[in-house]
Amino acid sequence: MAYTFNGGIHVEEYKNTRKCRIETLPPPKKVTIPLSQHIGAPATALVNPGDTVTLGQKIGDVAEGMLGCPVHASVSGTVKEIVKKTIPTGAVVDHIVIENDMQDTLCPDIHPTEKRLTDVESAEIVSVIREAGIVGMGGAAFPTYAKINSALGKVDRIIINCAECEPFITANHRLLLEHPASVINGVKILLKALGVRTAYIAVEDNKMDAVEKLEELLADSKMISVRVMKTKYPQGDERQLIFALTGQEIPAGKLPADVGCVIFNAETCAAIYKAFSTGMPSVTRVVTVDGDCIRRPKNLLVPVGTEAGELIAFCGGLARPPKKLISGGPMMGAAQWDPDMPVTKSTSAVLVFSERFGKKRVPAPVCIHCGRCVNHCPMHLMPMYIAQFSQAGDLKRAEEYGAMSCVECGSCSYNCPGGVEIVQHIRVAKASIKAEKARAATQNAQK
Ligand code: SF4
Ligand code: SF4
Repeated sequence: MAYTFNGGIHVEEYKNTRKCRIETLPPPKKVTIPLSQHIGAPATALVNPGDTVTLGQKIGDVAEGMLGCPVHASVSGTVKEIVKKTIPTGAVVDHIVIENDMQDTLCPDIHPTEKRLTDVESAEIVSVIREAGIVGMGGAAFPTYAKINSALGKVDRIIINCAECEPFITANHRLLLEHPASVINGVKILLKALGVRTAYIAVEDNKMDAVEKLEELLADSKMISVRVMKTKYPQGDERQLIFALTGQEIPAGKLPADVGCVIFNAETCAAIYKAFSTGMPSVTRVVTVDGDCIRRPKNLLVPVGTEAGELIAFCGGLARPPKKLISGGPMMGAAQWDPDMPVTKSTSAVLVFSERFGKKRVPAPVCIHCGRCVNHCPMHLMPMYIAQFSQAGDLKRAEEYGAMSCVECGSCSYNCPGGVEIVQHIRVAKASIKAEKARAATQNAQK
């Protein structure tokens, strides 16, 4: 029987690209690389306009001791300018624009880790992962070296998140089918780094071809096994994944490591293996390009910093006028206002939808107290009350009702017959609560 969690929803899958092999995007003429592609402090530029850079060269870094990651050139060429632009999260950060010389001149610093995995120390692995600028590639973008450090000595299980429960996205599915050994080798490196002996690769049961492939390769493995998860949204949320696999609930305000688990994304594992075996930092990723506006949906291997327009053009362009561009999945991704938004290390999908796709707005949303949002909330919250408190500006009660535990999965809004944009109201409450706390902390510090 497949593992699962309580609540959640069954969404139309739209996995149109499940059979589309990963194609390599032709090299872009330029890349626009954000200096903040991770949680934590933005990197500081290490290059200036006019500088020549090589493929894989470190072009930005964060001061030692600060949470953050280095950033690397995804092509070789010339730095044209450093400009301020908006990243998918809405923050405005510096971007390094590199004109591609189409030579792919490799940075001389790039070389494989010289030691065998059996001889390498945990700290050395963590250092390789940090220097390669690897972050959670499922969308969270948390620096992977920091996640390992925070889990060291606390966890006895690693979970590899291959749920890919968002509609449309198939990038991880194709990676598992086409490069399963890279993912498995990445898991072995993580096992060694964390000093644990158990890893589960969690795959939803709508990807049984990938499950079969992994099970074949892992037939003799004593430490790594595959876990088949029921296809249900949001199975990929780490709290739901841990509950489904272990029966443990993570208390509010706690982390997976507090219940002995740490979760990594499948593509993150492949990036770790690549960094370890070749020295190449995180400068490419697989992106699903889909949506009803895209003529020929595809999975593409793309240099970080490539503008979304290049991906769309390679997929045959737009079949109809676009209404919405989304970075990531349709449930938890972020709508974009810049069609030239660059792909970052955590961009799993570029989706373009027309007016005719998606939920129609209800002119006068109203709660009819049906209770569906409560039934579907995987965090066992009462979303309609939090939304109402948010609308009334009652942040205290919104917080008391668990607003900060909301994982913003959107399961409540998806099923609301009254058309209430529940998750949007909860997001507003969360942002206001955070801002209020930050303001109070600043005032206290100034006293
Ligand atoms: S699903 Fe919508 S209508 Fe039903 S209780 Fe929740 S907010 Fe109200
Ligand atoms: S309240 Fe939050 S966690 Fe619960 S269903 Fe809505 S978005 Fe998901």
